[in-house]
Amino acid sequence: MTLSSVATALITIVELPYAYDALEPYISAETLHFHHDKHYAGYVAKLNELIEDTRYATMPLEEIVRSSDGAIFNNAAQAWNHIFYFEQFAPRPQHHPEGALKRAIDDQFGSVEGLKERMTTHAATLFGSGWVWLAADKDGRLYIISKSNAGTPLTDDLTPLIAIDVWEHAYYIDYRNMRKNSVEELWKVLDWRVIDARYNAIKA
Ligand code: MN
Repeated sequence: MTLSSVATALITIVELPYAYDALEPYISAETLHFHHDKHYAGYVAKLNELIEDTRYATMPLEEIVRSSDGAIFNNAAQAWNHIFYFEQFAPRPQHHPEGALKRAIDDQFGSVEGLKERMTTHAATLFGSGWVWLAADKDGRLYIISKSNAGTPLTDDLTPLIAIDVWEHAYYIDYRNMRKNSVEELWKVLDWRVIDARYNAIKA
């Protein structure tokens, strides 16, 4: 067997930071098994096929997202977006932002409830598959951004803070076609401790 016939995992799977059933009843274990082990892992497997023997093969995932297009971008961005998405939830979340992020949200959206309502509306009305993001620029100003397909604020030179996955695979098992309802429930397991840390890292 030659070295070139050995399949090497270039981009590795990041495991969930909690048990599969830890977010029930808001996100079921069945959804997380499909979402993490089939959909997310599928993007990683496809990406590794596509980047083998290319200049992307030795790049960190985030750099691939920033510098690719076409099928490599689609699979790299989906891989990155999903890691970011899974890491924002916790079974015992901090339910509100604090400090600088809370002040920015109150200033721009009136209240945290105002922000949640705006983002939920974006998620309910985005046509087809995609993502709704809360992101910030280098001065800490916040933006709600709807992106189709694998779109991510990384390519707008913004720092992502919150990701809402509105692909049907994210909610169809638990909520069927009730996308808006699924997003309203998501907020209950969103860990603002994680979001605060992402925001505070911008100016650190
Ligand atoms: Mn997804």
